[in-house]
Amino acid sequence: MAKTLLLLPGDGIGPEVIAEVRRVLDALALPLSVSEAPFGGAALDAEGVPISDTTVRAAIAADAVLMGAVGGPKWASAPRDKRPEAGLLRLRKDMAVFANLRPALCFAALADASPLKPDLVAGLDIMIVRELTGGVYFGEPRGIETLPGGGRRGVDTQVYTTAEIHRVARVAFELARKRNNRVHSAEKSNVMESGLLWREEVTALHKAEYADVKLEHILADNCAMQLVKAPKQFDVILTDNLFGDLLSDEAAMLTGSIGLLPSAALGEAGRPGLYEPVHGSAPDIAGKGIANPLAALLSLAMALRLSLGFAEAADRLETAVRAALDAGARTPDLGGASTTHAMGDAVIAGLR
Ligand code: NAD
Repeated sequence: MAKTLLLLPGDGIGPEVIAEVRRVLDALALPLSVSEAPFGGAALDAEGVPISDTTVRAAIAADAVLMGAVGGPKWASAPRDKRPEAGLLRLRKDMAVFANLRPALCFAALADASPLKPDLVAGLDIMIVRELTGGVYFGEPRGIETLPGGGRRGVDTQVYTTAEIHRVARVAFELARKRNNRVHSAEKSNVMESGLLWREEVTALHKAEYADVKLEHILADNCAMQLVKAPKQFDVILTDNLFGDLLSDEAAMLTGSIGLLPSAALGEAGRPGLYEPVHGSAPDIAGKGIANPLAALLSLAMALRLSLGFAEAADRLETAVRAALDAGARTPDLGGASTTHAMGDAVIAGLR
């Protein structure tokens, strides 16, 4: 049976970049069944909710879901549960995706766009695996309370279990095996109990199932420093929700524009992955036809490789993106004047 891909264009520049995904899929001509559903503000307008039960069921039944972006000023005053972002949170929760993959890739043609010296970042290829559904953003107890003697107290709880650590660490080790076979696990085991547990559990899993992968432990603060000092020493970085939030944004900025950054969120093996550009709906440029479609196209490449079983097509697509940049295609965020469509054309030319 053909693999299935559900596209959720969403709002703002979302439909503009997903249109280029469609054109590239046509050019790749893979045996893939592609469907589309409204999402975010577009779904609120059409169906009265930011994501319908039907769309959630279709997402869970698909092999991969690729979204554009959601949100925008038109829906900013909608009730909280009707906001486009609520649709995205529900989708992530119902798809049970717990590992967030954020690659930081530096294309040779864009090494000058990095805030770091070109020789530090040229050829950079890091994958950050961030735990997405546990840790301090979800731990209980949490809240703000008023103290009897005046003043208030705010509490968050960092908590992880063996099962939560093992399932995300497995994703990192499996990815490393398909890359350069190295994992750095970042935590604060020197000052946090949950960090010590993280280190011990990653070590135990490594010994039991992944001894062929090179594992190094690194304190998260040192990892932040090393990312700007010598980023090419890393292959896969495995880390928790909070540190991953910070380290993945830091790594992303090594590579230039937000219009270039793909991401994936994965659940248990065999379940569909959710793929999305890191950027939002960019209301300031929506409708102008100048959004950079490369983050969406690179998200498609991740979906082809990690969920859809088309690794060769993923390689071809990434090579075509590189060729388009080498040929000088640049949307305005990269300092050029190419339109979204022209960038899509350049990638399609690279595919041939
Ligand atoms: P944004 O990422 O939409 O835009 C930030 C800046 O980057 C803007 O100047 C924009 O023009 C530029 N930019 C973003 N993507 C680009 C691209 N592909 N090509 C060229 N330039 C690009 O972030 P924001 O302005 O903070 O948020 C706008 C809306 O998007 C809000 O409603 C927010 O809630 C939503 N949002 C959605 C997601 C998502 O769907 N996953 C993520 C972030 C923000």
